[in-house]
Amino acid sequence: MAEVVDYYQVLGVGRDATQDEIKRAFRRKARETHPDANPGDSDAEHRFREAALAYEVLSDAQRRAAYDRGVQFESGDLFSSFAGIDDLLSRFFGGGLGFGIGGARGPAAGADVGMSLEITLAEAAADCSREVSFRARLACPACGGEGAPPESPPVVCDRCAGRGSVRVTRQTFLGAAVSIITCDKCRGRGKMITTPCSRCDGSGAVMDETTVTVEIPAGIEDGSRLRVTGRGAVGEPGGRPGDLYVEVRVIPDPRFTRHGADLVHRARLGLAEAALGTTVKVPTVDGGEVDIEVPPGTQPGTVFKLSRLGMPRLRRRGRGDLLVEVQVVVPHKLNPAQEEALRAYAAASREPAGAPVRARRRRAR
Ligand SMILES: [Zn+2]
Ligand SMILES: [Zn+2]
Repeated sequence: MAEVVDYYQVLGVGRDATQDEIKRAFRRKARETHPDANPGDSDAEHRFREAALAYEVLSDAQRRAAYDRGVQFESGDLFSSFAGIDDLLSRFFGGGLGFGIGGARGPAAGADVGMSLEITLAEAAADCSREVSFRARLACPACGGEGAPPESPPVVCDRCAGRGSVRVTRQTFLGAAVSIITCDKCRGRGKMITTPCSRCDGSGAVMDETTVTVEIPAGIEDGSRLRVTGRGAVGEPGGRPGDLYVEVRVIPDPRFTRHGADLVHRARLGLAEAALGTTVKVPTVDGGEVDIEVPPGTQPGTVFKLSRLGMPRLRRRGRGDLLVEVQVVVPHKLNPAQEEALRAYAAASREPAGAPVRARRRRAR
């Protein structure tokens, strides 16, 4: 189990190295192999652990003398109260050496949950709310997420006095350093469970279905993601819950094309309507209708602007506009009366429109 490691070699110093040389060597090694400088490199983490162990042995005169006599140390001998690499890091760097290591970590947070839902364009035009249901790890209803029944609540951790973290003062290569590390007895919670809740075995969480009401702000765009803070899965007892993310799909409305807060509606007019003028009814996104006056001689592509009848501006005041674009529809087929009238129109306006109906249709397509 104990692999024989040459600590002098690990730090790259000679057998007769002074304490200063050992300090400098470890500092160099630690910076080289620090996990923050080598993200995702497990070999670097292993070398960091090895260097830390070598430093722990060689920087202590008694241990170094024992090691020189042939005594082997295992990391368990020296770091028994330190659980993982984070704790090791905060042991050496917890004083703030610029690696950005948070000293103590609290109980783990809950997982985030992702959902999606669909609303109509009309629903997107006003504030609305929707319920979403999903299964997740939720706070145990029997103990309220405490992990212990109400009659025997968790007790204050005696190692950290309820703080969840402990201060460790030690001699490092930088002199005396105070590190704040996660209390390993209560795992950062500050409280200990003496009698675990029978429903959740002390975890404080059970798998269950939950329903969350999601408030959807007026003017939301298709594909937007809303975050409902704290409504995801529950964390470890004392940890914060995850968040619920809801992707909102806005179902397209065939009557409107959306451009941000503006809506475009295409109004189809007949030849005579466009030429002679008319009144058209235009639908609005919130279910109403408005009349617009189309003057005689309106050209295809003409746009009428109906101010503030578009979509609300998301999280701002005001609304976009409803733009009504005129399309003039040429009839695919004329009945005899229409054809006669149009031929008379062509003659009056000296248009050479004498070709048969069939041929004219081919040209138009
Ligand atoms: Zn419970
Ligand atoms: Zn504790």
